[in-house]
Amino acid sequence: MSNDLSANRNADLVMDQQSYEGDPLENRETDRYRAEYVMSFVEKWDELIDWQGRATSEGQFFIDILRARGKESVLDVAAGTGFHSVRLTEAGFDVTTADGSAAMLAKAFANGQRRGLILKTVQADWRWLNRDIKGKYDAIVCLGNSFTHLHEEKDRRRALAEYYAALKHDGILILDQRNYDAMLDSGFSTKHKYYYCGDKVTAEPDHVDEGLCRMRYSFPDGSSYTLNMCPIRKNYMRRLLHEAGFERVRTYGDFQETYAEGEPDFFIHVAEKS
Ligand code: SAM
Repeated sequence: MSNDLSANRNADLVMDQQSYEGDPLENRETDRYRAEYVMSFVEKWDELIDWQGRATSEGQFFIDILRARGKESVLDVAAGTGFHSVRLTEAGFDVTTADGSAAMLAKAFANGQRRGLILKTVQADWRWLNRDIKGKYDAIVCLGNSFTHLHEEKDRRRALAEYYAALKHDGILILDQRNYDAMLDSGFSTKHKYYYCGDKVTAEPDHVDEGLCRMRYSFPDGSSYTLNMCPIRKNYMRRLLHEAGFERVRTYGDFQETYAEGEPDFFIHVAEKS
């Protein structure tokens, strides 16, 4: 792991309980994510996502998109426990593994090591990304519904501007999100096929309104954890990408080019700088 993790930035490694001051439904702050990924939740994250099942369900999708455009250097800005950093490194890409949570990065590094890889890790918050990462990349991936941790529009615009600046002139950004349109308009349903593939863990919203989707993850040992996410709509996200300067944005539904709007669990936006 990069040596510049100060003691202060490691504070989230020692916290073991999630705590939301006051009414959790009122807690809609971008900065909340570091306190949400407490060590005990991070330890369980891989139980939640089931690497093997996830690899099977997403197949070569991201690898094919990157290879088809001749991309080599990839910055995984929301590495979490390292699933995509490991997969892309094994596929031959030159990957830098970033995340704002020290607990997540530590787990990603350990997961890489277990597979014989030394991941290049950097702790970086998207809003100040270019302060902590060096150079420019062919591609940035921001996957696993991560971007919807940003609760304020100014933070979303700021993060996209930072991603844009960290890309080469013909770079691409691949960013995914849950299908919040369907959740807001028709209620929650999921095929549990993509991303959260473990069958012993449930991932369901406790609460959904236009400004908050509070997801609850319940584990077989009786423990449960929550994430307060912002339910951004698909076309709003596409507009933000265009307004950040990306020239072309193509949106896939559950890895397919054509889909009925309400059907997919996840949308994947592929945004091209030029
Ligand atoms: N991509 C991984 C996956 O799919 O398994 C992790 C997804 S997890 C839902 C979201 C990740 O985004 C967490 O690791 C969290 O620490 C990170 N994150 C959230 N907000 C962030 C921010 N503002 N800057 C950097 N990382 C952030």
